[in-house]
Amino acid sequence: MSEFPPGSVWLVGAGPGDPDLLTRKAERLLRHASVVFHDALVGRGVLALVRDHVRLVPVGKRSGRHSKDQRSIDALIVEAAMAGERVVRLKGGDPAIFARANEEILACRKAGVAVRICPGVTAASAAAADLGLSLTLRGLARKLTFVTAHARAGEQLDLDWRSLADPQATLAVYMGKAAAAELSARLIEAGLPPDTPVAMVENASLDARRHFTTRLDLLPLAAKTALGEGPALILVGQALGEAGVASALTGRIAKSLPA
Ligand code: SAH
Repeated sequence: MSEFPPGSVWLVGAGPGDPDLLTRKAERLLRHASVVFHDALVGRGVLALVRDHVRLVPVGKRSGRHSKDQRSIDALIVEAAMAGERVVRLKGGDPAIFARANEEILACRKAGVAVRICPGVTAASAAAADLGLSLTLRGLARKLTFVTAHARAGEQLDLDWRSLADPQATLAVYMGKAAAAELSARLIEAGLPPDTPVAMVENASLDARRHFTTRLDLLPLAAKTALGEGPALILVGQALGEAGVASALTGRIAKSLPA
C-alpha cells in the first residue's frame, strides 16, 4: 500500500467513539497496520475493526491514572517504525486537537521516520450532533473556541478568562469536568451573564451518551450531580440555548436553589 509503507507512522483520528464516524481512510489504514497503539478513549467499536493478527497496544492516559508517559509512547512508536512495522497511532477524536500529536510527530521526524495525520471527528462536532444544534449562530455566535481545562495536579487553570468570556462565542471545553466549578466562577467574574446556556455531553456518539443543559451559574452543581465516568464535553454560549434542547435538569437544579 503506497500510502502506508513499512517503517512509517500514521496518527489516525478514531473519532468520538461510534465506529460509523471513522473516516474511510482511517478504516483503510487500520486494515493495513501491523501494530496499533491506542488511547484509552478510543471506542470499543473502533478497536473491534482491528484484525486479529494485528498487535493492539493500549498506551492510554486517563487523568490521574497515567499508564505510560508521553516520552515512552514516543519511543514505542519510533522503535516500532524503525523495526519496519506499519504503525497506526490511534487517538480519540481528531489527532490535532488536544492529543499531544506534536511530541509524536517530532519524535518521528527526529528519527527520520515518515509520519502523517489522518483527521477524525472531534468531540465538539459529535456533541453538537447529539444535541441537534449548531455551534455557530449567524450574528450571535461568530466564534468557536476549543479550550482545554485540564490543569496539572495541584495547579490552577491558567487561562485568559477575559478573552474566553466572549458573549458572541461558543466555548467547547475539553477535559473540563474537574474544573467545572472554576470555569463557571471565572467566566462569570470575567463578564459572561450567569444565565448563559451551557450543555454537557457525556459519551458523545456512543449508546451510553447523555446530555444535559443548564446555565453557567448552575454548572458546578450540574456537573457534580449529572456527569458519570465517561468523557464529557462542556459547551458554553448562546448557541446552546437554541433548538429547544431537553432541559429537565435545569429545572430540577433551579428548583433546588434558594430563591
Ligand atoms: N482529540 C480528542 C480530544 C482529546 S482530549 C478530540 O478531538 O475529540 C479528551 C477530552 O475530549 C475528554 O476529556 C472530553 O472532554 C472530550 N471527549 C472525547 N471523547 C468524547 C466523547 N465521546 N464525548 C464527550 N467528550 C469527549
